[in-house]
Amino acid sequence: MSFKLGILGTGSSANSYVLQEFDRSVMIDNGFSLKETLRRMNGIHQDPRLLRAILMTHDHQDHTRGVCALSRKFSLPVFIPRGMGFESSQAPEKEALKEMSLFQETRIAGFQIFGFNTLHDVRVSAGYSIKGKSATVTIITDTGNWDDTMIELARHSDVLVLESNFSGDMLWAGSYPIFLKQRVAQYHLSNLEAGRFLAKLSRFPNRIKEIVLVHLSSNNNTPERVLAEVTAVLQQSPWASIPALVVQNASPKTPSGRTRLWVLPKNASWCYTQDQGVGK
Ligand SMILES: [Zn+2]
Ligand SMILES: [Zn+2]
Repeated sequence: MSFKLGILGTGSSANSYVLQEFDRSVMIDNGFSLKETLRRMNGIHQDPRLLRAILMTHDHQDHTRGVCALSRKFSLPVFIPRGMGFESSQAPEKEALKEMSLFQETRIAGFQIFGFNTLHDVRVSAGYSIKGKSATVTIITDTGNWDDTMIELARHSDVLVLESNFSGDMLWAGSYPIFLKQRVAQYHLSNLEAGRFLAKLSRFPNRIKEIVLVHLSSNNNTPERVLAEVTAVLQQSPWASIPALVVQNASPKTPSGRTRLWVLPKNASWCYTQDQGVGK
């Protein structure tokens, strides 16, 4: 039996993740159309019939667009952080919606799920740490800041998915109007801050096998920039010589015995498999 994490894609246009263990899986966010969701799930060997629920981080189109259609097709409940609400026209059907409290454990489809606040330009937004029988994944994206709770959850994870949204140099020199530049800087994690988060994390005992940097801005970042700017910050840390790679294809990653850093280009897929008992 194995634990699988699939990233269907991330970035400014669409984000979605699937976690599978035994014969059940949960999805986190879905910004892809139904057809594209099924195509991408197939590409990373995730069977949509195993889905039991969809969890949502926040109400932005790149995370919500495909939730309603998928929920309807497979009769899936949609869990949202309490108070999140929906302003977009893409809201799931009322009967499917379930609110969950942050900062306490909720059991969904056999997974222990712990949600926490992120800082974003919406009423309520969340990240999740999801624990299965054999592995734990923590997803932190769409946030302007990070804190010790996130560090604590991350260090007890096998896989950490972390936002590295923009390069400060590209953002401030770019063509966005100033209000938009400020909004991006306030509500998304820069390469520099992602690096600082990882530098701090590396100083704590941890069990992390894979770190995946995601949600790269189309206009204000490139995978090469992420790699350069994040690893520059890590030079003074225990992760100074961490293997760091841009993801080229979705072939399943398995633990290598070392902590590795991946940069996921926008829209690229990634998947990870861990057999039960590994890393215990
Ligand atoms: Zn957002
Ligand atoms: Zn987003």
